[in-house]
Amino acid sequence: MIKVDLKKLNYSIDAQMDAGQPYMADLVSAIRKASPETDVTGKIPEGFWNNVDVRSLNLMVVPEQFGGLAATQSAISRVISFERVGYEDPGYAIALPGPGLTMPPVVAMGNDKLLERVFSRFDSKKPLWGSFAITEPHAGSDATALSTFAEKSGEEYVLNGSKCFITNGARSDYVIVFAQRSHRRGRLGMRAFLVERGTPGYSVIRTEQMLGMKASQLAVLQFDDCRIPEENLIWRDDLPKFSDALSAAQQSWDFMRPMLSSVIIGTCQRMHSELTRLFQQRENAGQVYGDNVMTLLRRYQTKIDGCRLLALQAAWKYDRNIPMSKDASMAKAMSSKLAIEFSEACHHIAGLDGLAGNSYFNKALRDCKAFDILEGTGDIQRNMICAWHTASLIK
Ligand SMILES: Cc1cc2nc3c(=O)[nH]c(=O)nc-3n(C[C@H](O)[C@H](O)[C@H](O)COP(=O)(O)OP(=O)(O)OC[C@H]3O[C@@H](n4cnc5c(N)ncnc54)[C@H](O)[C@@H]3O)c2cc1C
Repeated sequence: MIKVDLKKLNYSIDAQMDAGQPYMADLVSAIRKASPETDVTGKIPEGFWNNVDVRSLNLMVVPEQFGGLAATQSAISRVISFERVGYEDPGYAIALPGPGLTMPPVVAMGNDKLLERVFSRFDSKKPLWGSFAITEPHAGSDATALSTFAEKSGEEYVLNGSKCFITNGARSDYVIVFAQRSHRRGRLGMRAFLVERGTPGYSVIRTEQMLGMKASQLAVLQFDDCRIPEENLIWRDDLPKFSDALSAAQQSWDFMRPMLSSVIIGTCQRMHSELTRLFQQRENAGQVYGDNVMTLLRRYQTKIDGCRLLALQAAWKYDRNIPMSKDASMAKAMSSKLAIEFSEACHHIAGLDGLAGNSYFNKALRDCKAFDILEGTGDIQRNMICAWHTASLIK
């Protein structure tokens, strides 16, 4: 019989996950302190931003020519940093200030004036957010089914419609809104617009009471005869004739999915560390649970490492301009499936220790439920992986 010594088991890589960014240490310790409160209140505590380097966070994904941080321009560096944040609290990872998902469509389709206007604001010590709004009550997975409409009226566009589940929607300085310009719908009529906070006709209806990922403050946004100047259409005159905003949105997903996978992997790694710690504390763990726990921890560490490699591969390709939508979807689909499976396994094996209100496993199970939905559900990722694979077989 194999003799198990749980006390010697240590897969924790907390110390190895330092991304080498000077602002990360403060950020990670501030999130660790604030996370339990946020999980109860759904709010980021007042004063949180005083304890972190806000300017660096604002500039993390701003392109370098507009003052973005040199150290975080590569997808690989962001993937490593985001795993560390996901290890603390995945809700905070998507609540960090900066342009976030709005960066790629602005870069892909915006003219120089618009790029300057959007990005220059982030050189600030005040936390600022940009929100990306595509999802609607009846258009989630099928983003081409949008009802939000942009009517041209003289030198303005008039937006009408509503958007839901918009990350940071209630706190953002501006929102990039995806809307239809054609009554025939479909992707070719899709355009993206910059709407500044405070524009008449633009309102935040409510923030959702979420099961998990509480820091993200998902909001429902409403546009009622919201008039914006025509220069707020994100469009450059030299774009190819049949350009549409859905391809710009796809660039956001390609950009974000490797990072989101890393956030998920960070959460899985944390569950692994917590489960290891729990069993190291149990007096009789070696005799009663030994082989089972050891096997489970080894099996899941292998899966976590596999997902991490997928995320790194997607990021590596992103940095080299190699097509990577399939890699990004594979990383996202695999890691979110793993998170749900592992969080349930942790609950099963931790027993009552997983159910208590202050248990990390309690929070992790709720956070993990959201992973398979945001940034395209697991089903959609798998459909796309199949489609790309089939396409690659056709000569
Ligand atoms: C934490 C979080 C943050 C988010 N942030 C943002 C944001 O910042 N901006 C934004 O625009 N949106 C955001 N969303 C919304 C998210 O992108 C949508 O929830 C997602 O696209 C799914 O849409 P839906 O909820 O309408 O589900 P639906 O599309 O209605 O899907 C319901 C179910 O049907 C399945 N399904 C649907 N179509 C198919 C199909 N063709 N084949 C197989 N199965 C299918 C889905 O997988 C799912 O299980 C966020 C969501 C969450 C949870």
